Amino acid sequence: MERIENLKIVVPGEFLGDVREYIAGEGTYVSNGRIYARILGVVIYDTSKKMVCVKPIKSPILPKKNDIVLAEVISSGDSIAQVKIYFVIKRRDKDLRFIPLIPPFSGLIHISQLGTRTESVSTLLKVGDKILGHVTIDAYPPFGVSLVGKSFGVVAARCSICGTPLIYRENDLFCPSCKKRNPRKISPLYNFEKFEELFRKYKEKALIGMEVE
Ligand SMILES: [Zn+2]
Repeated sequence: MERIENLKIVVPGEFLGDVREYIAGEGTYVSNGRIYARILGVVIYDTSKKMVCVKPIKSPILPKKNDIVLAEVISSGDSIAQVKIYFVIKRRDKDLRFIPLIPPFSGLIHISQLGTRTESVSTLLKVGDKILGHVTIDAYPPFGVSLVGKSFGVVAARCSICGTPLIYRENDLFCPSCKKRNPRKISPLYNFEKFEELFRKYKEKALIGMEVE
């Protein structure tokens, strides 16, 4: 069975494994008994065939209606927040896989899709917040993204005053420096380190990818 590890994007020349362990599949090359990525892509270790290959990520993956996505808030106004969708999340068996979208897609969250009542979207979503949402409109970008539902909302955020990563406590986000509450539409899956790391990796690898082309 195909196995895609969580966000395992590789760049050309990245070490993937040893020929004693794996057969070098498509998108790879062998040098001195070591297997490397030949292209920018998602690495797949096929354990049954003992094969490693790299699937190109230039072939467009389009977010579709009802897909769960990870996005970053780019702007936040009274009635709408603009986001960039960086990942589609697929569930396979018990694993969640984060499939990077390269380039990221534009999305919009309308005030009616926040999943909570507020006067202005900007009070509950701030620029730079990472959000977990689902796609409601997939006809053309910007795609409609919704935070309606218990699991959806902000999964990583910084204090809007001092920039310190916010801490999740009793269904609320606190800044440990300012000792203040930062209101958000929060996801119970909030995990600053985990989600910031995903975006950081994406941005690093995507930049490297562009440079090698
Ligand atoms: Zn603060």
